[in-house]
Amino acid sequence: MSTHTPDRALAGAERTDTAQSQAAYRVLYDGQCEICQACVAWLKTLDHDNKTVSVPISAEVLARVDFRLRMDACLRQLHVVAPKGEILVGWDAVAGLARLFPSTWLIGVLGQRFPFRDAGRLVYSFVATNRYSLSKCRGGACRVARPEVVRRQARLAAFWSCYTLGFFIRLPLVLWAGLKAAAQRTSIFSRTYHQRLDLLNGRLTILFLNGFLPNAVPLLFGELFTAVLYDGVVVDPGSPKMRGSLIRHLHRVRPKIIRIIATHAHEEHVGNLNWLSALTDAPIYVSEMTAEFLRPFKQLPWVRATIIGQPPNLKEPYQRLGNTVDTQSGHLQVIATPGHCDDHVVLYDPKEKLLLAGDAFMGSYFATPNPDVDSRKWLVSLERLLELDIEILVEGHGHIHTLRTDIPDFPGVILRQDPKIAISQKLDYLRWLREQIEAGFQEQLPVRVIEASCFPWGRRTSWESDR
Ligand SMILES: [Zn+2]
Repeated sequence: MSTHTPDRALAGAERTDTAQSQAAYRVLYDGQCEICQACVAWLKTLDHDNKTVSVPISAEVLARVDFRLRMDACLRQLHVVAPKGEILVGWDAVAGLARLFPSTWLIGVLGQRFPFRDAGRLVYSFVATNRYSLSKCRGGACRVARPEVVRRQARLAAFWSCYTLGFFIRLPLVLWAGLKAAAQRTSIFSRTYHQRLDLLNGRLTILFLNGFLPNAVPLLFGELFTAVLYDGVVVDPGSPKMRGSLIRHLHRVRPKIIRIIATHAHEEHVGNLNWLSALTDAPIYVSEMTAEFLRPFKQLPWVRATIIGQPPNLKEPYQRLGNTVDTQSGHLQVIATPGHCDDHVVLYDPKEKLLLAGDAFMGSYFATPNPDVDSRKWLVSLERLLELDIEILVEGHGHIHTLRTDIPDFPGVILRQDPKIAISQKLDYLRWLREQIEAGFQEQLPVRVIEASCFPWGRRTSWESDR
């Protein structure tokens, strides 16, 4: 069978039909609407066999899917393009989709017959018309419809009613996803408990750090604590409460340590610098700004101090990090990457194409950013990292992104993803976030509304747990 490129498929209806007959049901939804997103989440749950593909509406997407689709019509009611090219609209689209799955098949069949069909259409058009007044008012249907009215209603809690309704539609799915994620976190935690990962013939070792109270973090949030040993260099040797586990590792591995480096001045990265240096005689290397932050180290909020541990102030002797730092058999480039915090640096080995990213790249957890995060600087830093040739990306909290086959599998820790793609996805997300925030301020929306529309129920889980 011949295939058509998207451009050629647009040339005529017949050709479009041929191209589409190979595909699934394409469901066009308003990606800005909390209710639409909740419904799509259910659709994904029902659709075990991938009979449907859900596509958030944009001008470019519509042109690609089918030239007959119109933006305002699609935003007003549900449009589904069937595999043979038929376009189902509104209630008929709902019934058509329902027929696809065993558990909703009966609803679908009845919904296409008198009198249910007429009743369904009536109810649907009522909901579709009033969705504007319930909708999220951040660019989707609202913008096309009646921006003035919608903006007025946004101040009258319409936003929150939509947000809340979306929450209840989604609640069973959210609970289930939460349970699954908790089980996954527990499994990863127990498999890494007091463990280490020897990679690249022992040149790279990830030491998983534990401690009675610090253990709450991987169990609740999935963020693992690690110290990285790379070619004689220890990067980010943990907090005082993780000392016991670090010393146990060092007794077992007995590595030759020639330098100790901190990527930034957060407590779980810097609490053992002087202690480890005294133990191993290896010199400490930190950036100028990190040294400044550590002398003295500011008093942590009590929760962080209790769970992770208040680090001691940095004491002499220590060295300033230059542009490069020697390892046992080569060197690492030191690259400033502010964003996660102002003093952050990453270490890059051009020979191995390996990046020790610290917290400059956090794939999974973003919903609880620290107060010292600067997303504008972070964007610039990630753009800089994207220019590097990276085959192995080692995060500071226990994830390694790589496609290299000389790195063995370790589910939950080794993520089989091209580091470049991981970084550019992160960039896309941060850019989208920036736009949302700026547009929100321009529209003079309350900060809490902007926040809620940046982290809708669905995206909250998906951005945190895209492992
Ligand atoms: Zn950090």
